[in-house]
Amino acid sequence: MTYWFLFTKGDIYLQRTSDGRWKLPQQEMLPFGNEKEVIELPLINSDRAKALEVADLTVVPSGYDRMGLRASFQCLDAEAYQWAGKAAELLHWHLSTLYCGHCGHPLRYTTPISKQCEHCGREIWPTLSPAIIVRITRGDEILLVQSNTFKRDYYGLIAGFVETGESLEECVRREVKEETGMEITKLRYFGSQPWPYPRGLMLGFTAQWKSGTLQLQREELRKGGWFHRDKMPAIPEKLSMARMLIDDWLGEK
Ligand SMILES: [Zn+2]
Repeated sequence: MTYWFLFTKGDIYLQRTSDGRWKLPQQEMLPFGNEKEVIELPLINSDRAKALEVADLTVVPSGYDRMGLRASFQCLDAEAYQWAGKAAELLHWHLSTLYCGHCGHPLRYTTPISKQCEHCGREIWPTLSPAIIVRITRGDEILLVQSNTFKRDYYGLIAGFVETGESLEECVRREVKEETGMEITKLRYFGSQPWPYPRGLMLGFTAQWKSGTLQLQREELRKGGWFHRDKMPAIPEKLSMARMLIDDWLGEK
């Protein structure tokens, strides 16, 4: 049986089950959409997997719900959510690499995770955009900030994309300096997480405040400050690395 990952503009279609939950469609035939645009994905537990960007439908087919990939975290088990993220990344990669960046000729699949130019022979693989996120604490206080891109009123952690030619540690120190004007110490790796929006890899770190007073970079952050562990504001959803870092700190005592 084939797992089907059907997307429209970053939303995924999940099949409703008889007990009021959701699952990934798994069947031989394409559930809906254009068969010609289907791509093959790496196998999932020896089952085939395919993905498709479906044209924006005015009516979602009966038995299915359309939801944001992030929202699907609440509806799928952890493993299925991770597969969906991988499928979304590979579909995004496919649709953004139809032609060779070197000579402009069409690219053809050689494996589900590689393509080759039919003209010049150039091979390409999916690339990731690594980003760092760092929890900065000062005794019983944590530095929380609100990015200008946040759609709701909650606070997160300092984060940013890794630039070419810098190490992860340099990236963390640069982002902290740029966004807060402060210096940190005791920088430690915490963990990582695929972040398929659309092709990220989130790398979490912890650090302690060393020096400097908070000066927010207004182009990126609209508010922020030090929050005592007993007076925490609204924080990010469970899915995120930010939340894992914050929960980890709150659970330390
Ligand atoms: Zn080429």
